[in-house]
Amino acid sequence: MSPRSKLVRVAVPVPLADAFDYLVAAGDALPPIGCRVRVPFGRGERIGLVVDHPATTDVAAARLKTIGAVLDAAPALGSELLASLRWAAEYYHHPVGAVLSHALPGPLREGRAIDEPPEPSWQLTELGRGVDVARLPRTARQQARALIALRETALTASELDAQDVAAPALARLEAKAWIEPAPPRTPAQADPRREPPGREPELTADQRAALDEIAATQGTANGFRAYLLHGVTGSGKTEVYLRLIAAQLAAGRQTLLLVPEIGLTPQLVRRLRERFGEELAVLHSAVTERQRFDAWRRAYRGDARLVVGTRSAVFAPLPSAGLVIVDEEHDPSYKQQTGFRYSARDLAVVRAQRLDVPVVLGSATPSLETFNNALQGRYRKLTLPRRIGSAGSPSVRVVDLNLHASRQALSTPLVAAIGQHLTAGHQVLLFLNRRGFAPALFCPTCKSAEQCRRCDARMTVHARAGVVRCHHCGAERALDWACGTCGAERIAVGAGTQRVGDELAALFPAARIARLDRDSTSRKGALDAVLNDVETGNVDILVGTQMLTKGHDFPRVTLVGVLNADQGLFGTDPRSHERLAQTILQVAGRAGRADLPGEVVIQTHHPDHPLLACLIDGDYTAFATLALTERREAACPPFAHLALWHAEAARREGALAFLEQVRLAADAQRGAVTVLGPAPLSMERKGGRYRAQLLFRSADRAPLHRLVDRTLLAVRGSPAARRARWSVDIDPLEI
Ligand code: ADP
Ligand code: ZN
Repeated sequence: MSPRSKLVRVAVPVPLADAFDYLVAAGDALPPIGCRVRVPFGRGERIGLVVDHPATTDVAAARLKTIGAVLDAAPALGSELLASLRWAAEYYHHPVGAVLSHALPGPLREGRAIDEPPEPSWQLTELGRGVDVARLPRTARQQARALIALRETALTASELDAQDVAAPALARLEAKAWIEPAPPRTPAQADPRREPPGREPELTADQRAALDEIAATQGTANGFRAYLLHGVTGSGKTEVYLRLIAAQLAAGRQTLLLVPEIGLTPQLVRRLRERFGEELAVLHSAVTERQRFDAWRRAYRGDARLVVGTRSAVFAPLPSAGLVIVDEEHDPSYKQQTGFRYSARDLAVVRAQRLDVPVVLGSATPSLETFNNALQGRYRKLTLPRRIGSAGSPSVRVVDLNLHASRQALSTPLVAAIGQHLTAGHQVLLFLNRRGFAPALFCPTCKSAEQCRRCDARMTVHARAGVVRCHHCGAERALDWACGTCGAERIAVGAGTQRVGDELAALFPAARIARLDRDSTSRKGALDAVLNDVETGNVDILVGTQMLTKGHDFPRVTLVGVLNADQGLFGTDPRSHERLAQTILQVAGRAGRADLPGEVVIQTHHPDHPLLACLIDGDYTAFATLALTERREAACPPFAHLALWHAEAARREGALAFLEQVRLAADAQRGAVTVLGPAPLSMERKGGRYRAQLLFRSADRAPLHRLVDRTLLAVRGSPAARRARWSVDIDPLEI
């Protein structure tokens, strides 16, 4: 290699690899770090990202290949984002090429240009302006919504989609010549729909204090600082975010706002759009790739100064960042559970640090990690202890299921309370973390329940669909009431949301009942339709799963029932209490907003459990303090750091053999790190595969990461590793 040849190190999205060195052809300019390049790889070609300009290489000159086309004039990933991603690749022990490629929108991964023309907007035609929307048929609701929205300004398909207008409705409008493509929008035209400033509510004293404290601790510089905004549901956290965002916009800086998967409802998007209009770019998995690409590019160019999205939006480009916000920071959907297993909440803090801007983590029920960081003084805690309006906190009552009769998970006192609230003209919300009709199909003669053939689990009865279904692998069979072994008539045991809905319909025939779970919302638009019906008062009783707990604002709900609090009381996972407390307080927070006092009824067989005592007082701080003491004694996070090895294989020995090898490799050099396992999972077989796990635990992070690295080196590529499907999860959520 001649001393004047130029080298680049390129991260390529392939497994088990870091980055590779390539030559730049003589006479060509050195592509800047962060740019995409085509490179020869194996027998084909890949698109990789330049991560370094090394002076020398270990690769023999004869084997060194030359890069192909350079795809970007300016870096696709800016220096901060690139550095954060490289940090993440190391921290989560995931190949850097895969991590970098994960952060790029699909079209860029495929080699398309950043400056392709953006998604076109639609505008009304003269004909469209003349349409009397009120006279459209009821089946044309989406078209009507589009016509109304487009009266104010031209909108892109993705913006219309965020208002629940899907592509087929647009096609019909275009066919009628009511809408037409609009001329391209320039950034200068932004903001036609910005809400007049007068409509912001007057801040409460608590909100003011929180904002003042941020202003005081930030001073004039916008440097890094982490805040926990701990505010009970309905205390006005979102309004605090809006004010912080407005201040950043005024200063010409960008804000990244992360929300949980289900939190990105039309309600929130509408609220943001009303306040901030065209500044908004929405990044989430429900929009099309094309729309996501356009939103990403608006963020990349700095045109979108408010970037809102779910987990993966943490990788958004922020060339002029001023602020990062993570709403409902405790939400498990921030953790990616497959492939690159990152925590978007934690990466948001890392990015804020590198961007040198403040980060606000908001929640009514903060994760114990964040709560502890605030206790230790690493994060500054801001508190909103009261709800907005005169409703005050809901009153909480426990119904002891040992004393009261119940049918289909509805106890007599709860049924009486539902009747009272319905009579008063209010709405009722019932939480049960179990979808379907019944969790078991039981034969009284054989004394056995119908099992999934591929999982160690019972089949759930879905009576309306006429099937039994496995909620773990999705397997489905026709529902046969006759026992396959003895022919006896079988019975559905227990109650899921569907059965509770049926029972309610029998008890309250005049009530309008809706369900909110994965089954009832699998159709596109169904979730928004249910939420909208509840919001507009077209539903009296809403029965739902975990989906109920996330950030929806239902102003007329006055009664919340938790049908089975016991599901989380005796779980084996160290986090099960935290999850239960968060779920109960979040769902209870839906009761009695605005000016209607709320009531919460919790059904349990264990009314004296100390956890429930904290929750009855609605005191998350008391719970968190208690739970942190337990965690410290049990050497659990945040007082220990974990890496979880998971393996699965078609045969039991396959999973265990690999983990035994991990254990052997680790034991030889584990130092102060504890190695626990391997052990089969409590539900060992899922989808026909046997599953097992092994845990590394350490009081300090550094030795844990060193041990993971060394163990990976030792076991990767071994025959046992090839026979099992395996992963390593840093800071796992579930054990
Ligand atoms: P959180 O995010 O803490 O659940 P929100 O910010 O959504 O709370 O506020 C709850 C309700 O109170 C919303 O309907 C919101 O519009 C309203 N609200 C928030 N702040 C104020 C305020 N300062 N004055 C009047 N209403 C407010
Ligand atoms: Zn199954």
